[in-house]
Amino acid sequence: MNYDIYEKLGVSRAVAALGEKTAAALTERFRAIDDTAEYNQAKVLYAMQKNRVSAECLTGTTGYGHDDKGRDTLEQVYVDVFHTEAALVRPALTCGTHALATALSANLLPGDELLSPVGKPYDTLEEVIGIRPGVCSLKEFGVTYRQVDLLPDGAFDYENIKKAINEKTKLVTIQRSKGYQMRPTFSVKQIGELIAFVKSVKPGLTVMVDNCYGEFTEETEPSDVGADMTVGSLIKNPGGGLAPIGGYIAGTRECVQRCHYRLTGPGIGQDVGASLDLNRSLYQGFFLSPTVTAGALKGAIFAARLYEGLGFRCVPTAEESRHDIIQSIELGSKAAMEAFCEGIQAAAPVDSYVTPVPCPIPGYNDDVIMAAGAFIQGASIELSADGPIRPPYAVYFQGGLTWQHAKLGILMSLQKLAEKGLVKIG
Ligand SMILES: *Cc1c(COP(=O)(O)O)cnc(C)c1O
Repeated sequence: MNYDIYEKLGVSRAVAALGEKTAAALTERFRAIDDTAEYNQAKVLYAMQKNRVSAECLTGTTGYGHDDKGRDTLEQVYVDVFHTEAALVRPALTCGTHALATALSANLLPGDELLSPVGKPYDTLEEVIGIRPGVCSLKEFGVTYRQVDLLPDGAFDYENIKKAINEKTKLVTIQRSKGYQMRPTFSVKQIGELIAFVKSVKPGLTVMVDNCYGEFTEETEPSDVGADMTVGSLIKNPGGGLAPIGGYIAGTRECVQRCHYRLTGPGIGQDVGASLDLNRSLYQGFFLSPTVTAGALKGAIFAARLYEGLGFRCVPTAEESRHDIIQSIELGSKAAMEAFCEGIQAAAPVDSYVTPVPCPIPGYNDDVIMAAGAFIQGASIELSADGPIRPPYAVYFQGGLTWQHAKLGILMSLQKLAEKGLVKIG
């Protein structure tokens, strides 16, 4: 590798050389990731061919969007990738939280109870559920909520999950990714075991899996192991970095139909919803998603290996198996978090010249720092890092549309830490 171009970008030879050494030790690991990507690439291609995706599908509609062939075919492509009866894939689902809120409010009625057997859900769902007061929350509509925390070692607390399931329990929500917590991310196999357990306690329960950040990290998805609804954001993995907006819900005909009616209106359901000019990027992003996700996974493992080598605690470790694209690194100080984020920002294709600073964000108790210079605003499948300014001063790193870019971003973060005397290289 010719390091001249790295030097032009501001990465020293010492940092670049440490990166080379780190990457060289990961060959086997990367081969397994490429195998998963190869399988998933073929899976997506098969679904596109089976559904006879045509040039016409790439164009859009306006107004009511009646007979939008591209939209309807895309939903069938998701059906065949997730192996479900139905799917809702729409730009009108504005983000992951909206898709999750739609799935929950469509399938819970007053008097029903929602159970999370995996501890606290993602921050933005607290107001959806009513854990924190929220206007139009499920709580306001008379849906109660119960939660069973994980055991201290991160395992499911089967005994208390069984006790928590009662005559009111209607829907069980399982979040695959750890989000901003330090708990493990669950594998599809673990999720399948939990689904089998709750359904054995109460047959007829509906199970929803929050699949955000998990898509295509394995060869199977939660929908392959009994989830009635698998839900995610197109601003993350399945958008492949090209989808400018959107969410998906893949699942049983009954559950997904209710989601259609909740999203548009009772009676009109899936027949309306113009796709505007977005079909092409939704198809192309989904087509690229397996390899984009693979690049992000490689970046996450590379970051863990590099920073572990310098003495920082990483979750997950460089050795652990991966079920999402998030990497947390405990940097131990505010200054180190700022330097890390400065490096990620400096490696961005867009807005590389700005310096991220911590600031208050609604819904968080502490200031939050965020680095992202992305083609799609806020897209966390693109190179990005963020974290609340509080002990243990952990940054959450994710994304990178290509492995090469993820690597460069991580090297740049280390460069900034070295320049500020926060780490010593060599
Ligand atoms: C990102 C995320 C969400 C919310 O998705 P948005 O697109 O940010 O609204 C929900 N759950 C998990 C686990 C996530 O990572």
